[in-house]
Amino acid sequence: MDHGPRTGNKVALTFDADMTDGMLASLRAGRVKSYANLRILDLLERDEVPATFFLTGKWVQRYPDVTRRIADNPRFELANHTYGHAAFTGDCYDLPSQPVNELRGDVAKTFEVIKPYGGRQTRYFRFPGLCHDAATLDALAPLGVTVVDGDVVSGDPFATAWKPLVRAVLDHVRPGSVVIMHVTEANAAMTDEALPHILAGLRERGLVPAPLSEVLAAA
Ligand SMILES: [Zn+2]
Repeated sequence: MDHGPRTGNKVALTFDADMTDGMLASLRAGRVKSYANLRILDLLERDEVPATFFLTGKWVQRYPDVTRRIADNPRFELANHTYGHAAFTGDCYDLPSQPVNELRGDVAKTFEVIKPYGGRQTRYFRFPGLCHDAATLDALAPLGVTVVDGDVVSGDPFATAWKPLVRAVLDHVRPGSVVIMHVTEANAAMTDEALPHILAGLRERGLVPAPLSEVLAAA
């Protein structure tokens, strides 16, 4: 799914929590301080804004306390973004790639990593890089997941200024939209700067953030 019904006024803010072995190596070597942007959580909590987090298993294992904080918020939903942010389609940006026959087990394992945290668990799944094809969708069918891309790409990975993010979101957001952002701090360093402006722009447009399940289900 890319978005919910275009009626009503709800939109979903979604935040991907990527983590690869390369990112873990950068943390260990001290090249990167954090891939968990706590300022985003501070802001969403302060303003009581609902959001949905697409978590990789490796991010959850690296940031159990942050995961607990997400799960403990009744306005936040938890969703699945693979175990190690690999691509299962072959060529997908510069992501590490894995064979498609490992996809189902990878996604099932990630649900098992997320499940103990409780909170608002979902069966939503987002492919890294949004890269999918018929074979990957077939492989996931037995898991009963809903594959969610999104219709508003903020472009926050490796952004160097916040204003283009705000414009990218507010120029395209409509009722039912699913906005894609990242909570990965070092790899999306402008997202927390952009977020207050995005929230203000949504208010001006009469759009209300809601958990993804409510946006996709809204009639
Ligand atoms: Zn991702």
